[in-house]
Amino acid sequence: LSDLLKVGVALGKVLGSVEPDLTTESVPLLQALGRVLAKDVVSSIDVPGSDNSAMDGYALAVVDTNEPLPVVQRIPAGTAGQPLQPGTAARIFTGAPIPSGADAVVMQENCTEADGIVTINTSAKVGANIRPRGQDIARGSVVLGKGRRLRPPDLGLLASIGCAEVEVYLPLRVAIMSTGDELIEPGAGEPNAAQVYNSNRYTLSGLLQGLHMEVVDLGIVPDNPAATASALRKAADIADCVVSSGGVSVGEEDHVKREVERLGRLDLWKLAIKPGKPLAFGYIGDTPFVGLPGNPTSVFVTFCLIARPMLLKLQGSLEHEAPRLQAAADFQVDRPNRRQEYLRVSLEHRDGRVWAASHANQSSGVLSSVSHSDALAIVPPDTTVAIGDTLDILLLDALY
Ligand code: AMP
Ligand code: MG
Repeated sequence: LSDLLKVGVALGKVLGSVEPDLTTESVPLLQALGRVLAKDVVSSIDVPGSDNSAMDGYALAVVDTNEPLPVVQRIPAGTAGQPLQPGTAARIFTGAPIPSGADAVVMQENCTEADGIVTINTSAKVGANIRPRGQDIARGSVVLGKGRRLRPPDLGLLASIGCAEVEVYLPLRVAIMSTGDELIEPGAGEPNAAQVYNSNRYTLSGLLQGLHMEVVDLGIVPDNPAATASALRKAADIADCVVSSGGVSVGEEDHVKREVERLGRLDLWKLAIKPGKPLAFGYIGDTPFVGLPGNPTSVFVTFCLIARPMLLKLQGSLEHEAPRLQAAADFQVDRPNRRQEYLRVSLEHRDGRVWAASHANQSSGVLSSVSHSDALAIVPPDTTVAIGDTLDILLLDALY
C-alpha cells in the first residue's frame, strides 16, 4: 500500500523542484492572448476618466426637480458639456461626461420633454445613473499582476487603460515524444492487428497549444534504448521541458526510465490515482522531464494533474492548478478503491443541483470517455459513493 504516492504529494515534489527561467518580450496586445505577464501592469489613468452618464436621459441637480426645467444643452458621448446653470437640465447620452453642477441623471423613460422644457416624473436621487470617475480602475492601481495568464477580457481591460503592448514571457518550449513500437501516425495507412494510431501526440499537442506553449514534436520513438536515448537527448537540447508518453512501466520494453537515469536523474512513482498509475519525473541534464503513462486516458489525466501545473509554473504563471467545483453524484461506487479515481462525467443541471453522470466505460484505454465528458469527478481513496453524494469536480474546459 505504502508504495503508492498521493497525487498531491507528487505534485508538491514536482512544483518544489522546478523553477522558471524565462526571457521576456513585448508583444502587441492583440497577440497577447494566453501569454503570461512578466510584470505588473499599473494604470496611469482613472477608468472611467470622468463621472459619466449610465443612461440616455437628463442631467440635472436633484434640488431643481420639483418643477419643469429648460433643456439648455445637449451632451452626446464624445462631447464635453458646459457647466450646468442652476434651474436648468442637460440632455445627456450614455457615456457622456456629467457637466459640473449636475448631480444626477434621470433616464429619459421617466421624463417628458416638450418645447425645450423637461418635466421629471420621478423622484431623483443624488448620484443616480452616474458612473463615478475611477469606479473600474483607479489611477496608480495594479490592473493585472505579474504571472497572470491573459484571458480575453484581460486584453480588453489592458486596452481600457491605453496599453498597446505588454511585457510577457516567451512561450515555454515543450518537447513531446510518443514511445511505442505499436504506434503509427494517422495518414500512414491502415493499422495491422498489432498497431494503433498515435493518439497521445495529438492530445498532448492540443493541450500544450491550449496553454499557448511552443510544441517541439519528436514524433514516434521506437522501444529500444538507442532510439530512446537519442530522442531524449535531442529533446532536452532544444526544449525547456520534455514530456513523453508510454514506456514508464517496468516492463522490459519500457526504456524511458533507464535512459533518463543514464542522462540525468529520475523518480518513478506509482501514483495513487486511477487512471494513470506510473509517472516519471526527473531531469535530462538540467531540463525537466515528465514521463506520462501510455494509455490515452491516463495521459490526459496525469498531464492535467501533474504536467500542466508544472508547465504553468515553468511558464511563469502564478496560477498552477485548475479550480475545483462540486457536483452531486448521479452514480454509485459500491467498492472502494485504494487509489483516488478521476471519473469522466457529464454534467446536467436538475432540481437545483449540478449532477455528474459517469461515462459508461471508465477504462484507461477509452479516450472517448474524455471527449464525451464535461468534467473529472474525484472519488477519494477508500470511499464508496451513493447517489446524491457531493463530489469535487474539475471542469475539463478549465484545463484547456
Ligand atoms: P505503455 O505505457 O507504453 O506500456 O503503454 C500502455 C498502453 O497505452 C498500451 O496499450 C499502448 O499501446 C498504449 N499507448 C501508448 N502510447 C500510445 C499512443 N501514443 N497513442 C495511443 N496509445 C498509446
Ligand atoms: Mg509502450
